[in-house]
Amino acid sequence: MEKAEIGLIGLGTMGSNLALNIAEHGHRIAVFNRTRARTDAFVENSGALRDMVVPCYSLEELAAAIRPPRPLIIMVLAGKPVDEQIEALRGVLSDNDIVIDAGNANFRDTMRRFSELSGSGLTFIGMGVSGGEEGARHGPSIMVGGTEDSWKRVEKVLTAISAKFKDEPCAAWLGTDGAGHFVKTIHNGIEYADMQMIAEIYGILRDGLGVIEAQQLGIPATAIEAAVAARVLSSIKDERQAAEKAYGNIGVTRISGDKDALLKDLELALFAGKIAAYAQGFAVMSGASKEFNWNLPMPTIAKIWRAGCIIRSQMLDTMAEAFSGGASTNLLMAPAFISLMQEAHPSLRRVVARASEAGAPVPALSSALAYFDSYRQGRGTSNLIQAQRDFFGAHGFERIGEQGAFHGPWGSGAAG
Ligand code: NDP
Repeated sequence: MEKAEIGLIGLGTMGSNLALNIAEHGHRIAVFNRTRARTDAFVENSGALRDMVVPCYSLEELAAAIRPPRPLIIMVLAGKPVDEQIEALRGVLSDNDIVIDAGNANFRDTMRRFSELSGSGLTFIGMGVSGGEEGARHGPSIMVGGTEDSWKRVEKVLTAISAKFKDEPCAAWLGTDGAGHFVKTIHNGIEYADMQMIAEIYGILRDGLGVIEAQQLGIPATAIEAAVAARVLSSIKDERQAAEKAYGNIGVTRISGDKDALLKDLELALFAGKIAAYAQGFAVMSGASKEFNWNLPMPTIAKIWRAGCIIRSQMLDTMAEAFSGGASTNLLMAPAFISLMQEAHPSLRRVVARASEAGAPVPALSSALAYFDSYRQGRGTSNLIQAQRDFFGAHGFERIGEQGAFHGPWGSGAAG
């Protein structure tokens, strides 16, 4: 039988769809799953792609089915299962084979696995994949960390199966070792902020305006409800119920006034909040890039998030342009985003203020506003923190317009 070009371990939601995507792009694929029944079910459901799939029932069989040097994707639960799988593979793979962990690994685990495998003959890639089941099947966003050389060896298949934004593949090499998984983590952070902010706007629509109202006005409440349902809040429900008893259920006051204006404000507030969340995400990536010497390519990251992944949006195209145009610090400093925020931040402020007055919790939107306000405040208030630290610990402080370290006139101060 003709050998497969690539292998995949783990035929769960992501692995099975990724395998079909790879097969559909003309790459013969050998697959293995710990539980045999899942492999059988996968083969049974592979339809017209059946001939492109080679089911294997042991790691030895899997290795034998792939043409060396073997690219092999692991798509199992993150954590210990990945380490166990790599350990088992060491016994069956050969020099120059590439092991690709495509799950949601902690980037520090990825860095550790790189160093553990260095010198073993095997090459390791840590690859973030976003887009859920649908993306895996029809085109995900793919964030690769590893050596540039290893990326070149798998670039063809990964770009082929990735999502496309105006024909540009949403797959790229982002840096060495943990770079791909780190960027995926930030992607997920932005995704949670997005969902939280959508949920908060939904809360205002539901409790402050009436949902029915939102539906009548053509607001996509079903999408919002779906995002809300995705949130994981149930774990502290008992505590919230106890707190409601302790403080009494004051409910959220209905927000009065011009509904059209408020709906417009809600839209712009969400927009401004999202910009702030992205700005923070890119700022964190920029810091990590320096810390870990990844040289993360910000324009490329924005580009490969434009399609396929969960947080894809039109705004990412503007971000890609901003970074390509040299926006090197915070996204909030890119000219395009300065004008967008100037238009949108008053709405964010009004929404946060009115929601607070009405008793509707909006933690993500208010923290986005606080971030924006703090970021654009040339003279902040942390000078008083320096003074307090000097008082209790003689840490010293600096002065505006004067060189050197100073101490305040507080005598011996307090212990701290
Ligand atoms: P599923 O729960 O659908 O499948 C899990 C897979 O892992 C199964 O094939 C399972 O095998 C295998 N597995 C679990 N434990 C072990 C083990 N100890 N040894 C060998 N195999 C094991 O998970 P997903 O497909 O959703 O997720 C896979 C990875 O992809 C995870 O890292 C996840 O975080 C990540 N991911 C998921 C996304 C999603 O939307 N679902 C999106 C992006 C990334 P068995 O059949 O034997 O149980």
